[in-house]
Amino acid sequence: MNIIIFGPPGAGKGTQSKYLVKKISGFQISTGDLLREEIKKDSEIGKMIINDMNDGKFVSDEIVDRLIKKFIFDPQKKNKLIFDGYPRSLSQAKNLDLLLNNTNQKIDLIFFLNVDKDIIVKRIEKRKIIEKRSDDELNTTLARYDTYMKTTSPVLDFYSKSSNFHEIDGNLEIEEITRKIDSFINV
Ligand code: AMP
Repeated sequence: MNIIIFGPPGAGKGTQSKYLVKKISGFQISTGDLLREEIKKDSEIGKMIINDMNDGKFVSDEIVDRLIKKFIFDPQKKNKLIFDGYPRSLSQAKNLDLLLNNTNQKIDLIFFLNVDKDIIVKRIEKRKIIEKRSDDELNTTLARYDTYMKTTSPVLDFYSKSSNFHEIDGNLEIEEITRKIDSFINV
């Protein structure tokens, strides 16, 4: 079973992905984590993306597509993929379809965690204290939210027609969101 968790920054994608990793013995693919890892390593990619990441802008499709490829082609992870924060543009969504087709896989479930802006701001302020992420400043948070709203609506249109698409109220408490997600998973 391959799953996409979709939603704005601070929607709880990471938290719910971690739950799903346990639930389906899956593998979380967080493009945000992969990109932060590149910055930490000070790699070529890291150097190219650091400014955009800190400004709350999206990293180019080409870089993100390159980073996720190895997970999709890994036979051990086949049909156990949990996409957290990917795809975030129509081009990424089409690329993902293509890569999954090439490996005889498909997306089985798409969860859209829909959250109000004021709740996101509160959550990210809290996360800033706990995780100390450099892109969790208030201005960056708002920029990330605006980027998300602008860039991801075509992705939402792309997936919302699918019978596997489920919108979940991301304003709810974590456990309640998990319970709703759980109700769509039969393992
Ligand atoms: P996240 O950890 O998912 O909130 O992502 C943090 C930041 O990483 C985003 O604000 C973007 O700058 C970048 N990022 C993560 N995933 C993607 C993606 N799929 N496409 C483009 N940029 C991304």
